[in-house]
This record gives sequence, C-alpha cells and structure tokens, in this order.
Amino acid sequence: MGNKLLHKGFCPVCGQPILHVKRMKDGSICTECAAKVRVLFPVHYEKSTVKGYNSTCVDPLQDAAVNDYEAILKKAKSYRESLREKYNGYNAVYVVDNVEVDNGSGAFPSPVVNVYGRVLYGTFFMDDDALLLHGSAETKIQLKLGKIINSFSPAPITYEDIKSIGRKDNDRSFIFVWQLDGTAQEGYPFQFAFTNKNLSVEAGDLIVK
Ligand SMILES: [Zn+2]
Repeated sequence: MGNKLLHKGFCPVCGQPILHVKRMKDGSICTECAAKVRVLFPVHYEKSTVKGYNSTCVDPLQDAAVNDYEAILKKAKSYRESLREKYNGYNAVYVVDNVEVDNGSGAFPSPVVNVYGRVLYGTFFMDDDALLLHGSAETKIQLKLGKIINSFSPAPITYEDIKSIGRKDNDRSFIFVWQLDGTAQEGYPFQFAFTNKNLSVEAGDLIVK
C-alpha cells in the first residue's frame, strides 16, 4: 500500500495529513482538531429501550461547519475555563449518570459496580490518582485508575471480565474506553467498573483529578 493511501488528504485546520477523519457539515478535519472542540460537542450513546446501553454513537460535531472552526475553538477554550472555575479548578471532571450493580453468581459471588457517565472536561489516564466526590456532603474517596482498555460496545462488566484483563487488587477502578486511544477524553462517555460493592456512588457524583 502506498503512503498516499494511508491518509485521506490534509486537515484544513492544522494542515497535517488526516489519519483519522472526522466528518463535519461542510468537510472533514482530523481527530486531533476535533478533540480540541469536543468539549462543546459531547458524544453520547443512545440508550436502548430495554436495558442499559447500545452502541449507537451520536456525534453532534458532524452538524457543525469546518468554516466556523476558529470561532468554535475560541468558544471551546472559554467554555472549558468556565467549567474549570465551576468545579474548583480540577483538571478533569467526570459526571456519573447511572449506576448498575452486578452481584455476581455462584458460591462466591463477586460483585461489580458498573458506573456509566461522561467526561465533562479534561483527560483521565491510566494510573491517575482521582477522587470520587459522593453525595451532597462530598465525601471524598481516593481512587487509582486502573487498566484502560478499548471496548467498542458499552455493556455491563462482570468480575470475569476484570479477571480476564489480569486485575487482582480490588481497590482500583477501571475505565473502559469505548473509542480513541486508551485515554478517557473530554466530551466522551466512559464506563468505570469497581469491584468494591461497598463503594458509595450514585448518579450525580463526580470523579475528579
Ligand atoms: Zn487538524
């Protein structure tokens, strides 16, 4: 395969070869440029009517115009700053939308707490130290973010899944990344799976760093 086939032209914003294309209303940009304005256009997954989530991804950025990129970028920067001020200067904030507990089965049930939510701004990385801010009293619980894996279908994680990726310690949380490059980036939904069933977490809680 020739080099020309490895990219799809050049990004009209940054001028770099587009390796992964992000289609917009009037053209395409690279995913790096898309990430810079993603805070204004959060991706979400359509919930299935029966249970949990399906993997239909809705990306509002596709309705924005490449021609407006400079203005959008400016807006994104000031919006990110306003969020940072609102959330006491934290570098990254994740908001919990939904919690499902899987109590496991068999003689030695191993529960897993599945937490669904989204990164409002900032980026989480593997091995980050984070805080869970629970309830109105903002109980602070220390977390160490565990292995980040790619998964293309948001779905409840079981203890078997966690074992299969080689986790042994129970205190760490997991982020299951539904796309991108192994980080939990702003404007994307993410799923945490905790193996501590006594963890107090509910919709509206924040995970911050
Ligand atoms: Zn670009």
